[in-house]
Amino acid sequence: MSNSTRNRGGKNNPLLQYVHNHSMREHPVLRNLRLRTMEDSDNAMMVACEQSQFMVNMAKLIKAKKALEIGVYTGYNTLNIALALPDDGVVVACDISEDYPEIGKTFWKEAGVEQKIDLRIQPAVKTLDELLAAGQANTFDFVFIDADKVSYDTYYEKSLKLTRKGGIIAIDNVLWGGRVLNPSPDDADTVAIDKLNKKLHRDTRINLTMLTVGDGLTLAIKL
Ligand code: SAM
Ligand code: CA
Repeated sequence: MSNSTRNRGGKNNPLLQYVHNHSMREHPVLRNLRLRTMEDSDNAMMVACEQSQFMVNMAKLIKAKKALEIGVYTGYNTLNIALALPDDGVVVACDISEDYPEIGKTFWKEAGVEQKIDLRIQPAVKTLDELLAAGQANTFDFVFIDADKVSYDTYYEKSLKLTRKGGIIAIDNVLWGGRVLNPSPDDADTVAIDKLNKKLHRDTRINLTMLTVGDGLTLAIKL
């Protein structure tokens, strides 16, 4: 794949380009969704493709059937997870925007997995509360937290309730472009991310890994 077709980083980073060229195994429809997303002015929001592939491999490793995506955007990662789930699998996809996921829907359908994607357009907290109220605690195998950063702790606590033992909660942007090194008190996003990073380090309810892939990815594995 050419430099220009890769999302963030690959274009001006020969080593990351090498990683892409030697490891990416994108479904053709997933590739087309990435290319379509690159035409969107907010494309910097899209997950790094090598990170998405890594998370999907983790989901496969734990034989995930039920996933939760908190922050869909155009649904690149949602589609990637849906492709990996078994026929009776489901990904509950949460976003407040009607418009962004609309871009992905055509691709979800073309890939033949739209029936596995349960898209809920409303504040993600409301969806998580509804899932808990519907008795779905301890049933999710894989969660990806990637919506508004000030709500990350709330998403984490509710996700921890929804996740089964041995399930994985992946949290994106935990390095926030390096700003976590010196959070300015009036930068609410950085403060929220740094606070959660510090809390997870002490959290005995999980096993923990923080990776430097993409913009920083934490994996919290429920004990
Ligand atoms: N996970 C996506 C991917 O794989 O490309 C990227 C998600 S993007 C960084 C963040 C998304 O969160 C946006 O689509 C935005 O509309 C959504 N969002 C922001 N606040 C939200 C909220 N309170 N509830 C649900 N979604 C929200
Ligand atoms: Ca992100």
